[in-house]
Amino acid sequence: MGVETEAREELLDLVRSLKERLRVDGESGETLSYLFRENPGAAEPLIPGPTLSTETSAGRRSDLEAVRVELGECRRCSLGSLRHRLVFGEGNPHSEMVFVGEAPGADEDEQGRPFVGRAGQLLTKIIAAMGLKREEVYICNILKCRPPGNRNPQPEEIMACEPFLIRQLEAIHPRVICALGSFAAHTLLKSEAPISTLRGRFHRYQGIPLMPTYHPAYLLRNPGAKKQVWEDVQAIMKALRNGLEV
Ligand code: SF4
Repeated sequence: MGVETEAREELLDLVRSLKERLRVDGESGETLSYLFRENPGAAEPLIPGPTLSTETSAGRRSDLEAVRVELGECRRCSLGSLRHRLVFGEGNPHSEMVFVGEAPGADEDEQGRPFVGRAGQLLTKIIAAMGLKREEVYICNILKCRPPGNRNPQPEEIMACEPFLIRQLEAIHPRVICALGSFAAHTLLKSEAPISTLRGRFHRYQGIPLMPTYHPAYLLRNPGAKKQVWEDVQAIMKALRNGLEV
C-alpha cells in the first residue's frame, strides 16, 4: 500500500470514528462531548491528530464511549459483514454490576441492543428480582455481532472481539460481573470447566468477583434451572451488600 493510500485510509478511519462518536454522543444526549476530555480542566481535544493511528489513540482513551468509537463499524472478523446491527452493550457506564452474555440473537441484531428477545426479557425479570432496574446495570456480550443462525461463537471471532470486552470492563470497572452461560464464563475465566461446575461460587476476573450462571436462553429450555440461577443472583446481591468478601 502506498503512502498516499495509507494516509487516505487513515483519514477515512478518522472520519468513521468521528461519525461513530457523534452517533454515540447523540444517543447519550452529549452532543459534541468528544471535543473535550472528561476532566473539564483539561479541555484537550480527544480527536487524534493525523499522525496518530486509531490504535494509538485508543490506547490513551479508557472510557466506554471511546471503546465504542474505536470499535466503529467493525469488520475485524467475518461476522461484521453478516450482521444487521452491531450490539455494543447498554446500561449504566458507572454500574457496580455487569452482565456478560454470549452474542446477539435475531432480535438484538435487529435492534442493536443486547438481551431484548425472549431470553432478554427473562434477564430483565431476573434483574428486577434483584431489586435493580435494567438501566442501573450494564449488559453486554462476548461477541458484538450475531453469529448466523445463532451458532456457537468460533475461537477466532472471540479472539477478535474480546479485546473490546476487556476494554469495556476496564472502563466500567464494576464491583461484580455475572457471566451468563458457558461461552461468557469460559472466555472470561479461561476455563473449559462445565458451567454446571463453575456456577454457584465466585471466581475472579482481573481481581473482580465473577459469578458464572446459566444463560437465560438455557433457562427458557430448562426452567428447572431457575432455582440455581436464583441462588447465584442471591449470592451476588449478598456480596454487593456486604462489601464483597467472597
Ligand atoms: S463480532 Fe466483534 S470482532 Fe467480529 S465484526 Fe463484530 S464487533 Fe468486530
